[in-house]
Amino acid sequence: ISFTLTTKDHILLNEITRITTQVPGNALNSFISTTPITPMGNKDVNMSIVVHHQPHFTTQKANEAVIWGYFLYPRRKGEFVDKQYIKMTGKEMLEELLGQLSKVDPGPGNIMDKKQEIMDSVINCIPAYMPYASALFNNRAKTDRPKVIPEHSTNLAFTGEFVEQPYQMVFTEQSAVRSGEIAAYHFAGVPMAKLVKNPRYDKDIKTLAKATRKMFK
Ligand SMILES: Cc1cc2nc3c(=O)[nH]c(=O)nc-3n(C[C@H](O)[C@H](O)[C@H](O)COP(=O)(O)OP(=O)(O)OC[C@H]3O[C@@H](n4cnc5c(N)ncnc54)[C@H](O)[C@@H]3O)c2cc1C
Repeated sequence: ISFTLTTKDHILLNEITRITTQVPGNALNSFISTTPITPMGNKDVNMSIVVHHQPHFTTQKANEAVIWGYFLYPRRKGEFVDKQYIKMTGKEMLEELLGQLSKVDPGPGNIMDKKQEIMDSVINCIPAYMPYASALFNNRAKTDRPKVIPEHSTNLAFTGEFVEQPYQMVFTEQSAVRSGEIAAYHFAGVPMAKLVKNPRYDKDIKTLAKATRKMFK
């Protein structure tokens, strides 16, 4: 379950910058931690925020700030709001966020000192439940998903995250866009060799060695 928070000033944003030591847009996923990504092996992080470079939207006013956040396990309970995340209002999600930030706040002072100011700065905090957001990671057989160009098709193609594209990583704009490119190239008669090369990291010794080292670190 995710939420999008819009504020009419940058107080919260500045506090997040101070606490995480990340300027907006610097780290795509600022997990609630003083390092950008919580190291593997640590206790599960229930909450994550994405703080984009501001302004994020072309129509966003200079005084406004927009951040996005989510809870990976919607049925778990909050630590600061005694409710399942899925049942929280936007305001409660923000309260949970402030609580989490206060836990890792290195000081001096604490974000909680500014809680009222931050709450007053909120334009809205809109939760969005995405029950199928991770469906594309489900195990599948090769035949479960169609190819971009089904056999014998003369005018129909499938695009997006649920097509079978060998060696592409799902859940990325790259793979979704590539499926559209494949479709367009196919029907327009453009050779597939003109597609951006698909890196085969599974055959790249350097990458494999690096991955192995990382695994045992
Ligand atoms: C929470 C989340 C985080 C993500 N983070 C990243 C990331 O960090 N990096 C990354 O690369 N990718 C990320 N992705 C994945 C990326 O957003 C998607 O892969 C990409 O947007 C898919 O593009 P698409 O054009 O195939 O589909 P979509 O962007 O889903 O577009 C499909 C469009 O079709 C419209 N539509 C549906 N049905 C109909 C209909 N019947 N008639 C007309 N229109 C219809 C929908 O409204 C929608 O606008 C993330 C996705 C999610 C959900």
